[in-house]
Amino acid sequence: MTLMINITFPDGNVRQYEPGSSALDIARSISEGLARNVVSATVNGQLTDRDLPLSKNATLALHTWNDQAGKETFWHSTAHLMAEALEAMYPGIKFGYGPSSEKGFFYDVEPPAGTVISTDDFPKIEAKMIELARRKNDFVRKEVTKAEAIAYFTEKGDEYKLELLESLEDGTITFYTQGEFTDLCRGPHIPSTGAIKAIKLMKVGGAFWRGDESNKQLTRISGISFPKAKELTQHLEMLEEAKKRDHRKLGKELELFMFSDKVGAGLPMWLPKGTQLRERLVNFLKVKQENAGYQQVTTPHIGKKELYVTSGHWDKYGEDSFQPIKTPRADEEFMLKPMNCPHHCEMYKFCPRSYKELPLRLAEFGTVYRYEQTGELHGLSRVRGFTQDDAHIFCMPDQVKGEFIAVVDIVKDVLNVIGFDDVTAQISLRDPNKPEKYIGSDENWDTAERAIIDACKEIDMKTVTAYGEAAFYGPKLDFMVRDALGRSWQLGTVQVDYNLPERFELEYIGSDNQPHRPVMIHRAPFGSLERFTSILIEHTGGKFPLWLAPDQFAILPISEKFNDYCHEVSKQLATHDIRGLVDDRNETIGRKIRDNENNRIPFMLIVGEKEVDAGGVAVRIQGEGDKGTMSVEEFIAFFKEQL
Ligand SMILES: [Zn+2]
Ligand SMILES: [Zn+2]
Repeated sequence: MTLMINITFPDGNVRQYEPGSSALDIARSISEGLARNVVSATVNGQLTDRDLPLSKNATLALHTWNDQAGKETFWHSTAHLMAEALEAMYPGIKFGYGPSSEKGFFYDVEPPAGTVISTDDFPKIEAKMIELARRKNDFVRKEVTKAEAIAYFTEKGDEYKLELLESLEDGTITFYTQGEFTDLCRGPHIPSTGAIKAIKLMKVGGAFWRGDESNKQLTRISGISFPKAKELTQHLEMLEEAKKRDHRKLGKELELFMFSDKVGAGLPMWLPKGTQLRERLVNFLKVKQENAGYQQVTTPHIGKKELYVTSGHWDKYGEDSFQPIKTPRADEEFMLKPMNCPHHCEMYKFCPRSYKELPLRLAEFGTVYRYEQTGELHGLSRVRGFTQDDAHIFCMPDQVKGEFIAVVDIVKDVLNVIGFDDVTAQISLRDPNKPEKYIGSDENWDTAERAIIDACKEIDMKTVTAYGEAAFYGPKLDFMVRDALGRSWQLGTVQVDYNLPERFELEYIGSDNQPHRPVMIHRAPFGSLERFTSILIEHTGGKFPLWLAPDQFAILPISEKFNDYCHEVSKQLATHDIRGLVDDRNETIGRKIRDNENNRIPFMLIVGEKEVDAGGVAVRIQGEGDKGTMSVEEFIAFFKEQL
């Protein structure tokens, strides 16, 4: 009798299979449909081909076009297809890296001397790729010796592949061939090029070999591909819409935030309307947190360098951070705080703690500073100074599950209210085959991992599980939302930490009268107010939920003789907590409507002779049009229904 192997699925289920079964066989055992669609698999945290035989117990996630890893297998395979097309069109072309990215693929190439590839060439290249894809060539994997690989690329004259080979060990080298093209690659790939039905090359530009400016500049050609032509059409429409919703563009138009070269790149300044929006988000979350037993605290923006030596941040990130601030004293150095946790750990030590005080939940909308590379900065989504909706929960190991449930509950609730109804959580666990990578006892890890999985189940959170993605100091949960354009964004995180309590020697006295070490949970549901707002702007296209909108109404007098009446109405609405403005500029009513429409003001209240006489307003809804005349009381009631 053959000994069966245990295969652990992302939901924690374990099934038995014959040794030598492949991910494809396993998919087939689940359903024929899955087997048809599976393109690759993650085995023990490693992305592999779907037909590689499994000989030992393993964790397994199957990938299809519908998940990110599956898409990336598809896109990376398209990079090979593009290389095949380029080689046919430009004999002698050399190839560097050709990976997938989050949103497609690229290949860094060196065209033959004297040849320049430009966007004008894209239609020809795309046509060639489609022609090759129609041949439905299989991606054929072959293990080769290092000597064979070197011989192949020496013969071909591709010094980039030869350089990549230098760092590879004999016995680990694989070639993949589809049609006429062979590449050095560790895979995985889709089974056949036939699945690639639609291709769009997006960009061509320079890229230094291996990202190093002292190396030769290669040509990077990037694109995206799909299994159905219709999906490409939809994607292009989405990009068009995304351009209109770009938060940097809308942020300026709606006067939410700004940047100034003089203040510094990556340091956003929130204008009055943006600040109102931000404060509303903060207050909303604060109330939720206070109800859930959090206590707000405030800590300074800087801390002594020693604080970060203790926390380990200095060793890990010090070189790439804002450098220490000097003082008149030679032996004194401060850091801009990159995280709030070290401050909160010190706060935990304010007094001796008893198990009766736990969980202790310290919350702070804490502003932190991280030195991002200039090229990485992007509007509000990648900045150098930002405010986290941070909190640290200090608890006993058996309280972790309850705390997770409470945290996930808040997050789900908050995101739903704000208008994200498609929320997924990624559970990042240990790599079960590399226990040496992690600190903390197995028992604690088991408890924490189980707690996260159970918590998500208990409150019906959609999840995906990633083995090997945990931090060395604890498992975590990351929240992802899908926006109105179907794009996925990673938001905040909940993270279990056994490391900082150790480094800061945190203790509590247990019911046994003995000192114990608490577990720390870091959590920031939005991640940061900046990043969250950038996603919110693009998700809503600037049409924020009514309760968040900086101005909920604009009153538009048709002529200046109605200005006083309009200000009276505005005051009346204010007493009902309805906020807005009177647009008493000396402009035509047509112009006023257009401007307020563009400013995404939810309600426009137009006032002329007729409205003044009737003691009412003519109501117009942004993006919808006229709703007729209402008395002010009627409008208030109508407004409250929409909240
Ligand atoms: Zn490849
Ligand atoms: Zn933290």
